[in-house]
Amino acid sequence: MSLPTSELPAAELTTEPGAPTPATGKTKQLIVQKFGGSSVADADGIKRVAARVAAARNAGNDVVVVVSAMGDTTDELLDLAAQVTDGAPAREMDMLLSAGERISMALLSMAINKQGAVAQSFTGSQAIHGKARIIDVDPHRVRTALDKGHIAIVAGFQGMSQDTKEVTTLGRGGSDTTAVALAAALDADVCEIYTDVDGVFTADPRVVGSAQKIATISSEEMLELAASGAKILHLRCVEYARRFGVPLHVRSSFSQHEGTWVLPSPDDKITIKEGVALEQPIISGVAHDRSEAKVTVVGVPDIPGKAAAIFQVIAKAHSNIDMIVQNVSTKGTGHTDISFTLPIVEGADALEALRAAQPEIGFESIDYNAEIGKLSLIGAGMRSHPGVSATFFKALSDAGINIDMISTSEIRISVVTRADLLDDAVRAIHKAFELDGDATATVYGGTGR
Ligand code: ADP
Ligand code: ASP
Ligand code: MG
Repeated sequence: MSLPTSELPAAELTTEPGAPTPATGKTKQLIVQKFGGSSVADADGIKRVAARVAAARNAGNDVVVVVSAMGDTTDELLDLAAQVTDGAPAREMDMLLSAGERISMALLSMAINKQGAVAQSFTGSQAIHGKARIIDVDPHRVRTALDKGHIAIVAGFQGMSQDTKEVTTLGRGGSDTTAVALAAALDADVCEIYTDVDGVFTADPRVVGSAQKIATISSEEMLELAASGAKILHLRCVEYARRFGVPLHVRSSFSQHEGTWVLPSPDDKITIKEGVALEQPIISGVAHDRSEAKVTVVGVPDIPGKAAAIFQVIAKAHSNIDMIVQNVSTKGTGHTDISFTLPIVEGADALEALRAAQPEIGFESIDYNAEIGKLSLIGAGMRSHPGVSATFFKALSDAGINIDMISTSEIRISVVTRADLLDDAVRAIHKAFELDGDATATVYGGTGR
């Protein structure tokens, strides 16, 4: 694998399709570039992105662009829907939300055409098939556009249901997954994810100013970070990239800095870039998540089958459970408490389903707490370095942070704390594992909403 040539300045480049890049002698590459909402937040942002895309094309590359809705458009559309109804039909919600990406793709196409390159935009339903999950990618129209020497722009986050032919969406942050799915289908050389920070950092730079940019990260660790709430990459995007061996380069659309390479397989370490340390650090980073709530089912009869009954009810309500803790039953009572976390947005449905099943399961009551935060420490080196847990829990205790729930994997420790203590907890852990750098990480745009 070689590095993309997209950062070459437009002035030095040839417009001859397929010609080797003059500055480096590299032959043309197929590059998928994804621009998040903060990169296309206003007309100036769209023009800046258009210049960048045109430069990559003028360097002789084939370029496919995936674009998100402008700025906070998706959140604003959700707010609007909530003002109209508290039970929007899923179909109409998909219709509404998919409008955001249609606006940005058309505007970006216009701005690129103004730069003198030819661009054509496509809705997700013209390229991506599958409801909520991508089943199939049909890059036929995209390929035809590329063959004509055009830049293809595809709306992120949306697709078409194979059965009903309805417009569908891929879940919040899903444009990353659109980009990688197209990159895999087109056998692209690289999928570049452009955002408002310079790459993947050791923690969210909005919470830890001294977080450091990570040069390369294994997809295994990136999966854990994304699954633990680091919203820099959509979880399914990382899964997809790993499965299909797509090299991901996460970087800023506001700077020319080299970003973070997510390595699809451990063997890629050496080929990616000369001068990158091959020895991976023990810890790769800290992630936090405020999007979950904790449910405690109180007074569950401590007999076989009751936990199963509770989780069947939750599964039927289509809730995704994360952490689970069952308390030891209080001596002599024959009852126990079962706590779990789930996304806040799924809380109401899950509670309703549990209440309906209360007579049958026979528990006493339900507690619901959305004021929680989850902190996760991730590092492949945990496998071979004892003492990580000891340092972790000591740092939290020194910072006076009480722990509510704990879960672990081979390369991750997660705890639930009070929401108002979460930022302090993240900073304490980041410091304890000596992840702080000297420089302050730059956040170029976005509201962090
Ligand atoms: P986009 O709109 O480009 O998709 P997102 O808002 O989805 O951007 O993701 C970028 C944001 O992810 C950053 O602004 C940052 O606040 C947040 N983030 C969370 N964890 C990390 C991390 N470990 N490294 C970098 N950014 C992170
Ligand atoms: N616009 C969608 C969202 O805000 C998809 C994305 O940006 O990736 O979730
Ligand atoms: Mg995103």
